[in-house]
Amino acid sequence: MDSTDVIATDVLIVGGGPSGLATAIHLAGSLKKRGLDKRIILIEKGSSIGSHTLSGAVIDPKIFKTFLPDVDIEDIPFDSEVTVDQTLFLTEAGEKVLPFHPPYMNNIGNYSTSISKLCQYLAEIAQSRGVEIYTGFAVEDVIYKEGKVAGIKTKDTGVDHHGNKMKNYQEGTVVEAAITILAEGTRGSVTKKVIDALHLDSGCNEQIYSLGVKELWSVPEGNIEAGTVYHTMGYPLQSGSEFGGGFIYGLKDNKVALGLVVGLDYRDPSFDVHAAMQVWKQHPFVSKILEGGSIEEFGAKTLPEGGYYAMPRFYDDNLMIVGDSAGFLTTARLKGIHLAIESGMLAANAAIKALVKGDTSEESLSHYRKLFEESNAYEELYRARNFRQSFSKGMVLGGLQFATQLVTGGAGLLGRLKTEKDSETLLPLDSRAFTPFKERFAGKLEFDKKLTFDKVTDVYYSKANHDEEQPCHLVLNNPENYQRVNIEKYGCPEAAFCPAEVYELHIDKEGNKALRIHAENCVHCKTCDIKSPGAGITWNVPYGGDGPDYTQM
Ligand SMILES: Cc1cc2nc3c(=O)[nH]c(=O)nc-3n(C[C@H](O)[C@H](O)[C@H](O)COP(=O)(O)OP(=O)(O)OC[C@H]3O[C@@H](n4cnc5c(N)ncnc54)[C@H](O)[C@@H]3O)c2cc1C
Ligand code: SF4
Repeated sequence: MDSTDVIATDVLIVGGGPSGLATAIHLAGSLKKRGLDKRIILIEKGSSIGSHTLSGAVIDPKIFKTFLPDVDIEDIPFDSEVTVDQTLFLTEAGEKVLPFHPPYMNNIGNYSTSISKLCQYLAEIAQSRGVEIYTGFAVEDVIYKEGKVAGIKTKDTGVDHHGNKMKNYQEGTVVEAAITILAEGTRGSVTKKVIDALHLDSGCNEQIYSLGVKELWSVPEGNIEAGTVYHTMGYPLQSGSEFGGGFIYGLKDNKVALGLVVGLDYRDPSFDVHAAMQVWKQHPFVSKILEGGSIEEFGAKTLPEGGYYAMPRFYDDNLMIVGDSAGFLTTARLKGIHLAIESGMLAANAAIKALVKGDTSEESLSHYRKLFEESNAYEELYRARNFRQSFSKGMVLGGLQFATQLVTGGAGLLGRLKTEKDSETLLPLDSRAFTPFKERFAGKLEFDKKLTFDKVTDVYYSKANHDEEQPCHLVLNNPENYQRVNIEKYGCPEAAFCPAEVYELHIDKEGNKALRIHAENCVHCKTCDIKSPGAGITWNVPYGGDGPDYTQM
């Protein structure tokens, strides 16, 4: 893209994950059928499509019949059809296969896949339909005209870490669009600003998140069959205060995708999801599957878990929001890809109607909401509308509440349940309400770099990279407050929760404590933007092309 001119397009999509690509494909296909010639541009911050997407992933494939009706399911780069599907409860040394799946967790007939590969495939289809895809460009903000979204601006480059323009300075590109569609995925950095500016979340529950830490392994033949799906509950998480569990998906060519997903509403400021995953891998059930194998890729990402009541208004004048950015994810199923695709299709249908009428006003694009209310996505999300909130007070109480929701169509006995912001759930470090993480897992936090890895070693397997000559993309919203609250009161929870060792609590000889930020390690999971207490941290988009370089996630 040329940085000097203003580019004009009919539709601009920010983000090349499943939601953005589905929007582009469906829109381009439908416009072509109607003989309409409209320009569609998609911008992705990863150096290539799929390099910043990370998922489990087991996909519910039904949506593909309507999304790609002319494509044979065999031609989609899924890995394996799920034929073995078990949920296990782990204790520290043992496991028990549950005689039934928790509701919504049946996966027989679904397909495992690498979302990176799936997105590459979808990008080829989009391009074959005339969509212009630009990778390696980071969208920093939307532009407004008369208070209405009118397009985007990409990030200026060639700026040193003090913010001074260097010789190679290039101003970001402005792209003006009749319709801008935000498909940034979880905790979108532009989406967050737009939601705030336009008050799109007024009346909504707080969006809450979990963090998923994932590794891809190659293991000896026979350790696990392709098409096998295990989900684990219990160890190493505490049922009263930590929501989440593990996933292990057997893939073709003796590969295994595995990870631990933990709700960010936990209370112990020393809790560390990455380290908890390393502890989980030492459990005999998991370590047996990995025995003799080796790691190939590592990554981490958050998931929006708030569900239906946390979804913002996902349309405004000239604007729509799709996929994870709008909260299209069913936590009870650990699934969002099919909803990301469906939301993209619904937004595309609303966009076509608006473009044909020449009316991209809020009222016109509210058609997206109407289509949503008539969709399968709505039915799925509405039925599970109180699911995640039930578990914020522990698994036992949550299980009981969930049981009542199942027989009342999702309402439960208490009606709409609220959520607390993830950044406000931590207890002070000196609270006696929990055993600190390092004590809980004493003896299990020495990582051997064969089965278990420290964060820096794992980051190596994410291939994360950032240009060092740029302003730090991680900004303390109030440094003074950070020292007093985050360091003194909570003991620097960022050093614990960041899965990539970006944050380090440095203590000098005199005992003075200070935060050091190793921004180059960042894998763009967005946890710090969500979980940091006090005044918090803002995750700004770094230069386009920076970040992880996933190929099989
Ligand atoms: C650990 C884990 C396991 C999961 N397991 C499953 C599963 O088994 N099944 C399932 O269905 N779902 C699963 N999900 C959820 C699923 O991956 C998401 O719901 C889905 O990827 C959402 O698609 P999306 O297009 O909205 O966002 P994403 O896939 O996150 O794509 C967003 C894209 O936008 C780009 N982007 C973001 N900001 C900008 C910007 N400012 N400028 C330019 N580009 C930008 C990103 O780089 C990225 O490529 C899992 C998620 C995680 C984290
Ligand atoms: S710095 Fe923030 S976004 Fe980057 S890896 Fe750490 S927690 Fe995730």
